[in-house]
Amino acid sequence: MSAVEQWQDVRSRIEATERETRRQRGSVELVAVSKTYDAEAIRPVLEAGQRIFGENRVQEAQGKWPALKADYPDLELRLIGPLQSNKAADAVALFDVIETVDREKIARELAKEMKKQGRTPRLYVQVNTGEEPQKAGIAPREAGAFVQHCRDALGLSIEGLMCIPPAEENPGPHFALLAKIAAEAGVGRLSMGMSGDYETAIAFGATSVRVGSAIFGARPPLGRPAA
Ligand SMILES: *Cc1c(COP(=O)(O)O)cnc(C)c1O
Repeated sequence: MSAVEQWQDVRSRIEATERETRRQRGSVELVAVSKTYDAEAIRPVLEAGQRIFGENRVQEAQGKWPALKADYPDLELRLIGPLQSNKAADAVALFDVIETVDREKIARELAKEMKKQGRTPRLYVQVNTGEEPQKAGIAPREAGAFVQHCRDALGLSIEGLMCIPPAEENPGPHFALLAKIAAEAGVGRLSMGMSGDYETAIAFGATSVRVGSAIFGARPPLGRPAA
């Protein structure tokens, strides 16, 4: 199947899951994760009507998205990978949504850059629901206070929370935990669910799902060049 056919399939599964879980129709946004795919692979999906895309590296996104944005000014680009503080300025300049605010230093840099550039990308806090040492994100018990700190001390409004559950675990409890933390912190949106578990995430309240390989096909293994 082509990427466009797979995209249509993902869209109809999202719609079916909205129905089955009594979510409002159209309440779940599809973020098409285009990391490792070049502009030529992305264009047909844009032409078919997809407008929200996710990338996990600032530099890679800078290489392919400015030209695509010029052709599709209404597209929305989301950063879903870890952000280094020396890339905060570039991220604020390019992205419409930054989903990976995961520590005080990054929040401070983003606040500074947003003021300087007069741009206000919408922000999500990444929560490390599995408390995995190798994974980015705020610990679940600290997430509420961190959201509050971003609001009160830095003047940043946090639109949502994002998580990536541990690969080998049942994701349901992680999605439930993220939803609970968001409700307690007064945060309205939940970015959770990927190719393998987006239907489960919708059942647990996801407002956006990040789907890559189910649309664009399998990526080359990590550490190998994206041919
Ligand atoms: C790559 C990536 C995805 C998409 O993963 P698939 O399994 O290919 O759908 C989602 N979220 C993040 C943070 C990613 O880095």
